[in-house]
Amino acid sequence: MGKIQIMDEWLSNKIAAGEVVERPSSVVKELVENAIDAKSTQIEVFLEEAGLTSIQVTDNGSGMDEEDALLSFGRHATSKITKEQDLFRIRTLGFRGEALASIASVSKVTLRTSDGETSGIEVHLEGGHIVSKKPTAFRKGTDITVSQLFFNTPARLKYLKTIQTELGHSIDLMNRLALSYPNIAFKLVHNGGVLLQTNGRGNIQQVLASIYGVPNAKKMIPFSTENKDYKVYGYATLPEVTRASKNYISLFVNGRWVKHYLIQKAIIDAYHTYLPIERFPIVVLYIEGDPYLTDVNVHPAKQQIRLSKEQELLPLIEGAIREAIRKTIHVPLAEKKE
Ligand code: ADP
Ligand code: MG
Repeated sequence: MGKIQIMDEWLSNKIAAGEVVERPSSVVKELVENAIDAKSTQIEVFLEEAGLTSIQVTDNGSGMDEEDALLSFGRHATSKITKEQDLFRIRTLGFRGEALASIASVSKVTLRTSDGETSGIEVHLEGGHIVSKKPTAFRKGTDITVSQLFFNTPARLKYLKTIQTELGHSIDLMNRLALSYPNIAFKLVHNGGVLLQTNGRGNIQQVLASIYGVPNAKKMIPFSTENKDYKVYGYATLPEVTRASKNYISLFVNGRWVKHYLIQKAIIDAYHTYLPIERFPIVVLYIEGDPYLTDVNVHPAKQQIRLSKEQELLPLIEGAIREAIRKTIHVPLAEKKE
């Protein structure tokens, strides 16, 4: 007999979990992205002990019928890709059908869901196995609770950082999602305390106020510009509001949060000598352009992006922000003269 064996599904889920589920914020990301894909307009996340004790995500999206609810935890279970052609025009965030199976294999999960037409269902899983299911009265939408994350993978538990660090990852993630989707009302609650709440009315300034506080948001000035390839707009703080880290500069390309070193540098350069040494502004920058010009690396863990015609885009961004700041700073002086 040869040595090769086909791994059982349970073991392969647990191995995949090592890649998909790194820490509590990875679970939050997958669950919230599923809620977004399900066209929810209201998404609430409740964490206990930064998600190590429990992570609950509640949405008002499409929900699932009983059959889908049970299937959704299977490996490669996805409603998002049915044919090969779909792979080339992915509009949803998830598509690998791996997240729920992976998460369930390293935690205890309770799923309650209803599609609003058939009656709701409640399913419990432990370490990836369904341990019970029963009909339940539930409104349209989905509620998933993931508790005791990594209870059966002690090595993974050890590798986690402090509660504060783990919570920080989830806060950063939720802030970015709120800025990417101003039309969705997000709420993040930790140990009973509300950390973020947006109203979903599509107003970016309101989202900025919820994230950075009203006084800071009031000191953020709008800018916008375009060339034949790209539309660029956003908000940037006046030089009097600064932070010790560059992490308060957020960039979204076609609605998706990305990292881009040269764009970050162009933003900082826009402030020229206005910034104190080792201080950085709070900026949110949106770039829109033909998806054809943006080569987003689709690996889920990588957020780097490459953009075509960067040589023209960088001065465009720098100029727009510099001009907006210069105008705001110099207006009061000009008024005084008159
Ligand atoms: P993917 O998102 O890659 O399809 P997941 O494992 O994240 O894979 O989810 C599997 C399937 O379960 C999804 O394709 C979707 O049909 C269903 N699903 C998951 N979460 C939700 C939700 N919050 N609302 C409705 N359907 C959901
Ligand atoms: Mg998904």
